[in-house]
Amino acid sequence: MATPIVLFDIDLTLIRTGGAGQRAMNRAALDLYGRDGLFDKLEFAGRTDPAIIRDALQGRLGLDGRWPHEYPRFLSRYLALLEEELTRSAGVTLPGVISLLEALRADGTVRLGLATGNVRAGARLKLRAHALWDRFEDGGFADDSEDRAVLTRVARRRLGGGPAVVVGDSVHDVTAGHAAGARVLAVATGGHSVVALAEAGADSVLPDLGDVERSCGELWRLLGAS
Ligand SMILES: [Mg+2]
Repeated sequence: MATPIVLFDIDLTLIRTGGAGQRAMNRAALDLYGRDGLFDKLEFAGRTDPAIIRDALQGRLGLDGRWPHEYPRFLSRYLALLEEELTRSAGVTLPGVISLLEALRADGTVRLGLATGNVRAGARLKLRAHALWDRFEDGGFADDSEDRAVLTRVARRRLGGGPAVVVGDSVHDVTAGHAAGARVLAVATGGHSVVALAEAGADSVLPDLGDVERSCGELWRLLGAS
């Protein structure tokens, strides 16, 4: 049987960037289009970068026909500014994350990957800022698909196709994980409550990953049942 996989979401599951991503998007829009606060009050939680950028550039600026040209241009400006914003921002690694990753690595019976709405280059910048990037083998990213379910399936495939658990903080992690044939351990460290995550159908919900023994126990339970 293929080796089991644990796929982690990044924002508000592993780390909090202190708003660096949104600030970098707003600055990119100001630089390129002279629009201040273009990304204010847009829904970010659990969504992919291209979906968020599409809302802003097509929905708010009306750049419909120019999207194939503007998206890569916007993305490269965003990534340059993200790097700058991450160095200025007081981000944190969330409680229990490092201990949990260490426990899973020491156990040696699961493969660790990412399933994130960030593009790969953005994920690398965010996780490098917290010395976490090298702890994951590979993953699924927003470059693979604007659809979180699709990128989660890609992540599974890249990590050998074994039984998988997705760990994430939003209802989108729950629905995408299930659509990709994974079980879902949800953590209420983002915008969605324990109740909302349970109602979305998460197979297990924890307030956070702070209790490593409990987090590992839930992961083994879900992998055993997948
Ligand atoms: Mg998240």
